[in-house]
Amino acid sequence: KMKLDVNVLRYLSKDEFRVLTATEMGMKNHEIVPAELVERIAGLRNGGAYKNMKTLLKHKLVHHDSTKYDGYRLTNLGYDYLAIKTMVNRGLITGVGRQIGVGKESDIFEVVGEDGRVMALKLHRLGRTSFRAVKSKRDYLKHRSSFNWLYLSRLAALKEYAFMKALGEHGFPVPEAIDWNRHCVLMSLVSGYPLVQVKELNNPQLAFETIMNLIVRLAEHGLIHCDFNEFNIMIDDSENITMIDFPQMVSVSHKNAQMYFDRDVECIFKFFGKRFNYAPPTAAPKKESELTDEDAEDDGRPIFEDVAGHEGALDQELAASGFTKQNQQVLEQYVENAEENDNDDGEDGVSSENDDVEGVNGLERLTVSDEDEPSTVVSTAVEGEGEDRRSDGQSQ
Ligand code: ADP
Ligand code: MG
Repeated sequence: KMKLDVNVLRYLSKDEFRVLTATEMGMKNHEIVPAELVERIAGLRNGGAYKNMKTLLKHKLVHHDSTKYDGYRLTNLGYDYLAIKTMVNRGLITGVGRQIGVGKESDIFEVVGEDGRVMALKLHRLGRTSFRAVKSKRDYLKHRSSFNWLYLSRLAALKEYAFMKALGEHGFPVPEAIDWNRHCVLMSLVSGYPLVQVKELNNPQLAFETIMNLIVRLAEHGLIHCDFNEFNIMIDDSENITMIDFPQMVSVSHKNAQMYFDRDVECIFKFFGKRFNYAPPTAAPKKESELTDEDAEDDGRPIFEDVAGHEGALDQELAASGFTKQNQQVLEQYVENAEENDNDDGEDGVSSENDDVEGVNGLERLTVSDEDEPSTVVSTAVEGEGEDRRSDGQSQ
């Protein structure tokens, strides 16, 4: 498990953060950011960037690379700290606690808010697996290969936040979407456990029907989860169901929609059969005519018009989130390629550089007080990317 020593945040000076942010800016266009560029973006006097860089290197927030030229790249940990610091500055969290989940492409930590509320922070890590082969096979990252893991992880976070928020507003049992920044999504902590950890249920039929109805209701809203299984369903002691993990959701108009839908249904069938020895009386999910009032509460309108494949303007919620149809296509392509690659040769590509990071991992109070994003730095940064709204503090 990875350790996230947020104490480091406290000890970094303003200039050190400036250099860390300058490195992030440089990564818009460079896989390895030339040392002079960091210096220039950071705008510190002679050698200022280098001096600060030493601290960042020591804490593994950046990595030095001189194979082609003298340069630096942001590490996962460096990106984590920039996002966490932003959330701290927004007054949303004051400390990071234990890791509560580790997925193929994410790490989840307990975090605590100013009022002592414990929440969940999901850090997306696209490109952690199946990365090298994907990159060589496909061209969708052609113009972005230098920083694709930052870009993709950020897109995944934006998508997850936007969907979680919209699903919640439509009455689906999902965590409360609180905020997001960079590759991180802040959400309410779900009580209970992933269904995969549950050995026995009081009422497997009820759980089964609830879950199947969720799949059907999602489809009525134009959506397919695509990863609906015992790992992404949380259940508490009263056997209440909460669904999580949305970055791979697709529209019912997706070319593989039927396959994804069937796969979701099949996963639940198989799991309930194997684990709880439960088989439903009829093989099909409830028909519309059988839905209860509770099921009918929400109107079944598509969550996001464009994801649902409709022409015209984006649904308001989606438009407000900033998640575009193009973003969806990029993520869909990534997911497809990653799946393809998983079945290929098991090459695991780039491994997490955080594995070797040591640190103290406790609920420490943070006292970082810098501004969210150093906008003065941003404005002198390299030529913009249209869709990277990094200088737009609110919507990251
Ligand atoms: P991944 O995309 O990596 O599978 P998930 O969102 O499924 O990430 O989260 C991985 C694990 O972390 C889950 O199986 C669950 O145990 C835990 N987890 C995720 N979100 C929450 C949450 N909001 N509250 C409690 N536990 C969570
Ligand atoms: Mg999951």
